[in-house]
Amino acid sequence: MQKLIITVALTGNVPTKKLNPNLPLTPDEIAEDVLKCSEAGAALFHIHARDAEQEPTLNAAVYIETVHKIKKSSPEVIIQLSTGARAGKDWASRINPIKLLPEMGSFTTGSNNLAGIIYENSPQFIECLAGVFKETGVKPEIEIFETGMINNAVYLTNKGLLKPPLHFNFVLGAPGSMPGTVKNLLFLSESIPHGSTWSVSGIGKTEISLATAAIIMGGHVRVGLEDNLYMPDCSLATNLKLVEKIVTIAGEVGRKIADPDESRSILSLNPEYKYRILQEV
Ligand code: ZN
Repeated sequence: MQKLIITVALTGNVPTKKLNPNLPLTPDEIAEDVLKCSEAGAALFHIHARDAEQEPTLNAAVYIETVHKIKKSSPEVIIQLSTGARAGKDWASRINPIKLLPEMGSFTTGSNNLAGIIYENSPQFIECLAGVFKETGVKPEIEIFETGMINNAVYLTNKGLLKPPLHFNFVLGAPGSMPGTVKNLLFLSESIPHGSTWSVSGIGKTEISLATAAIIMGGHVRVGLEDNLYMPDCSLATNLKLVEKIVTIAGEVGRKIADPDESRSILSLNPEYKYRILQEV
């Protein structure tokens, strides 16, 4: 079995400090959490940015400041910037994070309902965004909320816009999308093209149980306060505690943890792009 890649989704667009005061929102808080989680074993960081009012933003300056601070204290980690729609709906602002040349970016290949919104990713938009991933060499993490999104990724691959091996993240248990069951996880993991890698993000209380299933199945894991605010004992979580929980579970079943360079190799990232974001900003 491959070593386990632990991704942390630290902040997201939805959680607030009111819901969990441990949520990192400023560039300094995010960089501090990255350092703690990377020392505990996490390799990949899914980053959202917030403005001075703590609202979601796709503003390049905020992303740049956040990434600079992260790379200063944790130069080895893999950074993945979000292209999600809650922080801005127009195409240009959603594409901009990829133009900053992170090693990875998130890429949802279809639309669905989420709590309170239609998460809109039209065929025209996903084709356009796939083209930007291709042009820039940024590796997409394909976010799968339901099965049809896998078909769209295959379609984009056949058009030459996505380059295999693909990396998928199954987002399960979000209100309005596929329930967070092991049955669904097994089905999705068997539905992606041969040679792809995958991880799972269980939303809410499915986070640790689905992560445990993924560890045993040979997949990879995403945890973090973006997806879930509580520990299994219902106490308030921190990003660090969630990573430590995964490291413990992986240790119990004998799955070794991948460091950032081992994760780059598993994900087929171009090693030349490791520090590229710093050159460009
Ligand atoms: Zn996100």
